Amino acid sequence: MSVGRIRPSAVSLPVYKPGKAAVQAEEEHGIVDAIKLASNENPYAPIPAVVEAIRTAAAEVNRYPDHGAVALRTALAGWLGIDRDRIATGPGSVGLLRQVTMLYLDPGDEAVFPWLSFEAYPIFTTEMGATPVRVPLVDHAFDLGAVADAVTERTKLVLLATPNNPTGTAVSTAAIARLLGRIPDDVVVVVDEAYREFADPALGDPVADLVPHHRNVVVLRTFSKAYGLAGLRLGYAVGDPELIVDVDKLLLPFSTNSLVQAAALAAIEHFDDIRPRLELLVAERHRVVGALTGAGWKLPDAQANFVFLPLGARTAEVYLDLERRGVVTRPFPGEGLRVTIGSPEENDRFLATLTEVAQPG
Ligand SMILES: *Cc1c(COP(=O)(O)O)cnc(C)c1O
Repeated sequence: MSVGRIRPSAVSLPVYKPGKAAVQAEEEHGIVDAIKLASNENPYAPIPAVVEAIRTAAAEVNRYPDHGAVALRTALAGWLGIDRDRIATGPGSVGLLRQVTMLYLDPGDEAVFPWLSFEAYPIFTTEMGATPVRVPLVDHAFDLGAVADAVTERTKLVLLATPNNPTGTAVSTAAIARLLGRIPDDVVVVVDEAYREFADPALGDPVADLVPHHRNVVVLRTFSKAYGLAGLRLGYAVGDPELIVDVDKLLLPFSTNSLVQAAALAAIEHFDDIRPRLELLVAERHRVVGALTGAGWKLPDAQANFVFLPLGARTAEVYLDLERRGVVTRPFPGEGLRVTIGSPEENDRFLATLTEVAQPG
């Protein structure tokens, strides 16, 4: 029984399920040397300049951080070549996503998104008392025509993860522009680019291609995945200055912490040291995809730092067989397994273990 009179929309909220930790799998199965390929984390520790910046900032955590992260927003704006008033920072891109859902969704409103997609979308929509409208994927990819068709006068938000989590497919800015042409301009389109840095640049850049021409587009990005700062929490939003002011009003005070502000400034300054790691992860993804397709697996186009094995009804069984052998992946029951690209050794271990437990078909 809940305590007090909790909001009706909170009663049925699902609990967010993070990827299983390697130690947890070790305890459950009585094994050692498990590897975690379940949360799309960067396998590499931060570059030394970032660790040094965190260490220096650690000595001052008796002070509150700069709530507005002015130095960081200025650096980000310079890096992206846009005005500072088009950028908001927050505690991860999920923090900013939640600010956006809080800003727009009331009970009775609808948020439209392709499905399967990021698990936070139905949770954040439901939490506001609004209705999630799931538009089925076609061949594991977005059907943006069907997304446009699903928009009604009750729709306030369209949520597009590109590349998509968990299927890894991506849409171009040209395709999003066509969608924008088909929906009212008071429907806000969130382009969630958590995996942008791993994707083919030919897909376009929403910050350059869409934001200047569409006040109703807001782009979300993160330092968690490509920059390896998942543990510190930093995301940013790029959009119309008026939208940014409104999103900022919902920022939990001081939640862009001082360690991550320092770390991100160092990451931007030393991006040349980060780039080779990114390139290595993309090269490894190509290698893993090549090995899997060479073995006969049919995979959706992989544009992020993971691959999606569409195992359908076999998902739960293959997931468990991999985990018993120490390879922890992320299952989507009845749909498939999402497997994060790790270090070359981890990827070899995944490929070898998969060969032991499952054949394509
Ligand atoms: C991982 C992920 C995020 C969350 O990133 P944080 O910045 O760590 O909050 C957002 N969107 C999608 C689609 C993701 O997969």
